[in-house]
Amino acid sequence: MRAAVLTEVNKPLQLLDLEQEGPKEGEVRVEVKAAGVCMSDYHIMNGDWPLPLPMVLGHEAAGVVVELGPGVKNVKKGDHVIFSFRPHCGHCRYCSTGRTVLCSGHNDTPRWRMHDGTARVKLNGEPVNQMARIGTFSEFVVCPAEQVVAVRNDLPWTHAAIIGCSVATGVGAVVRHANVEAGSSVLVVGCGGVGLNVVQGAKLAGAKTIIACDLLDNKLGYAREFGATHTINAKTEDVVKRVQELTDGFGADYAFDAIGGEKTAALVVDAIAAGGHAVLVGIPAFSARAPISPSAMVYGEKKLTGTYYGSIRPAIDFGVLADLDLSKRIDLDSLISRTYKFDEINEGFQLLMSGSVARGVITF
Ligand SMILES: [Zn+2]
Ligand SMILES: [Zn+2]
Repeated sequence: MRAAVLTEVNKPLQLLDLEQEGPKEGEVRVEVKAAGVCMSDYHIMNGDWPLPLPMVLGHEAAGVVVELGPGVKNVKKGDHVIFSFRPHCGHCRYCSTGRTVLCSGHNDTPRWRMHDGTARVKLNGEPVNQMARIGTFSEFVVCPAEQVVAVRNDLPWTHAAIIGCSVATGVGAVVRHANVEAGSSVLVVGCGGVGLNVVQGAKLAGAKTIIACDLLDNKLGYAREFGATHTINAKTEDVVKRVQELTDGFGADYAFDAIGGEKTAALVVDAIAAGGHAVLVGIPAFSARAPISPSAMVYGEKKLTGTYYGSIRPAIDFGVLADLDLSKRIDLDSLISRTYKFDEINEGFQLLMSGSVARGVITF
């Protein structure tokens, strides 16, 4: 069973043959069919998120259920599933109130081990961790059944994979978290996998003005394809001033930081109108601290919130996103600018960092 393992920070992933135990109580084994290459994996690779290694990375993926442990009821053998990188215990205060991405039901065990605290993959008899308890850069994954959601089986594998992170996060941030109204003006900072999905979420919500901002012209070109009505290259233009010009001097009604940086967090607050809503979407380094202007927030009654995983409910929203995709209301085909073989995974990360791909997906 081959998996891509990070053994040391700032080193390439290694494709290693691991021993895998079958699913225990409440767990499933899934044969992975496609897995997206995401910035969140890179945050672990470069040490932004110091997590215990060795670890199988990967968290945006889809596959077919091949084996069930005792007591699994939410999926059956042969189901096509999308992995959720968040648990869903079903009974904690957050699951009970529909905010399942905040599930606190398993905080007693490390989030890179199964719920009994043990590992299902080993290298030379030593446990190997799984990112988000899934670790989907792997031919097969054994994980808690609550972290897979069955979807319609006519959804292409590559589409299913990216619904599991970038599409859910970007579209969800707009339609589940911020609830952008038709006719609004929206600024999106960062046009990578998540940012492009914020752009298409804003289009889906009926935003009138969608302003995309990035440092790379090719990414701004992608943003226009996904529905941006205006673009700003932050390298050469004053973003706040330009946004005000495009919104009758007010600033944007909504601004989304799809980067997760210190400067971009401050930028989205500066770029919204009085009464506007700034949303932090991209996941920052643990050490990041942003210089927000409290007075602008008070005098302008500005709102700043964070959204994790687009504030979606995976068990419901993965299916909704699949339907929107297959009825061409959102465009996942154009997002996937490259597919890779498993052996090319490190090239996938190089191209992600160069900004030359919208989304790259590994197919198995
Ligand atoms: Zn991701
Ligand atoms: Zn829960």
